[in-house]
Amino acid sequence: MTEGTASSSLCRECKQPLMALDFYGERLKGCLTCNIWWTPDDTKKKLAEADLCALHDMIHHSHRDD
Ligand SMILES: [Zn+2]
Repeated sequence: MTEGTASSSLCRECKQPLMALDFYGERLKGCLTCNIWWTPDDTKKKLAEADLCALHDMIHHSHRDD
């Protein structure tokens, strides 16, 4: 096993595990803390602040109380 490969699934910035999610039908893999995401075709992108908020909401309200 090689260390420090690009195929690592840890965030290169904060070393936390990358998370995969379905964002409005788009598969994204990346880091919520750093706001760095990759699409399945390996395009790196940042989410707009409003999208990030929606994402936080999605995660924290994955089970509804009402
Ligand atoms: Zn990170």
